[in-house]
Amino acid sequence: MSTPPTELEPFRVALDAWLDERRADLAAPSGDHGTLDEQMAHLTTVKRLTFDAGWMRWGWPERVGGLGGSTLLRGYLGEALTARGCVEPGIYSLTEVLAPTMIDYAQPELAATMVPRLLRGDETWCQGFSEPGTGSNLAALTCAATKVDDGWCVNGQKVWTSLAQYAQRCVLLTRTGGPDSAHRGITALFVDMDSPGITIRPIVTIHGREEFCEVFFDDVIVPADRQLGDEGQGWAVAMDLLPFERSTALWHRGAYLHRTLGELLQAVEPGALRPDEVGEAFQQLFALRARSRATQHRMASGDKLGPETSIDKILLATVEQQVFDLALDGLAGDVLLGDDAESERWRSRFLYSRAATIYGGSAEIQRNIVARRLLDLGSD
Ligand SMILES: Cc1cc2nc3c(=O)[nH]c(=O)nc-3n(C[C@H](O)[C@H](O)[C@H](O)COP(=O)(O)OP(=O)(O)OC[C@H]3O[C@@H](n4cnc5c(N)ncnc54)[C@H](O)[C@@H]3O)c2cc1C
Repeated sequence: MSTPPTELEPFRVALDAWLDERRADLAAPSGDHGTLDEQMAHLTTVKRLTFDAGWMRWGWPERVGGLGGSTLLRGYLGEALTARGCVEPGIYSLTEVLAPTMIDYAQPELAATMVPRLLRGDETWCQGFSEPGTGSNLAALTCAATKVDDGWCVNGQKVWTSLAQYAQRCVLLTRTGGPDSAHRGITALFVDMDSPGITIRPIVTIHGREEFCEVFFDDVIVPADRQLGDEGQGWAVAMDLLPFERSTALWHRGAYLHRTLGELLQAVEPGALRPDEVGEAFQQLFALRARSRATQHRMASGDKLGPETSIDKILLATVEQQVFDLALDGLAGDVLLGDDAESERWRSRFLYSRAATIYGGSAEIQRNIVARRLLDLGSD
């Protein structure tokens, strides 16, 4: 492939042409109907094709196998793949959540070895933050790491760990300080998921998929060079990662919702939806897009993302549920009772949309962040 331009507009044109050319190879064999196994297998194919052709490497630093250029380029790649239905955005965009923090906090040799594997689809990674008693109040986590010769020994449990059963590695938050050390006593580790002592139990979601898991750690040894940041710096690692979960990943999800709303308008009988409600959903979608675009540009200009990305997440969760509430209005019989593949697909997506106000920090927690950290409205 000739070197594509690093400016966004020419990049778009060149990428779109390539995507058209490779349409057949990139199309998901089962469309949106596939099982999670099928979607994961196809994601690997898409990542490999786009990485080997260079597209996936643009927007990532050269020191981790990227080709440099603006982060807007990878924002557009995910948008284009999602808008064309080549990938499911939730599983595709995990790279955007986990790789930037790895680049910021891993030892340079580790990041240089591991990040290209994630970008190329040779590996899947997962995020081990939440625990049975610890989701919103992350600073109370208890999964413990104690010092051993040249490393750490981990004991404890994580839950809701997306794709853990497919993952080769996990970005894991552990308690290394005393029980009352709160956010000061947390250390982040990069753990091989095939380490002895790890047990993974998938959990079936309301939409019938084994998308996340319980993960148990029983005397799991993690070498010292797998520590991300300094000992006790795990809270900073988490605070670095969470805004990434609300930036490029949400830009990609916005493209998916845009496509979904278009599909819905095609699927319903004329007049089945109230035009003002459709208009409201469009308005919300474009509000998300405008907000998320500004976030993409701030990231591209090197700004550190922070609590203001909670606004992006609130917009995303609101519009995701609005779009699928419309689906329920317009396709009620199919969504609730239909047993054909298309009905099951709408039902599954409707049910998953309920998780939008939970994953990546619940709607209430995002509003608390906006109130306290952006509007200075005080604490509890
Ligand atoms: C689809 C999906 C995928 C996920 N993937 C991952 C993953 O890969 N890795 C990972 O670590 N976690 C993951 N999670 C977990 C997710 O981060 C947590 O579910 C979320 O942070 C909420 O935590 P919780 O479930 O413990 O609920 P809780 O914190 O117990 O909250 C329960 C309810 O109480 C409300 N609440 C809690 N505290 C407050 C407060 N102070 N003020 C107001 N309201 C409050 C919450 O908003 C919520 O409505 C995933 C979750 C989902 C749904």
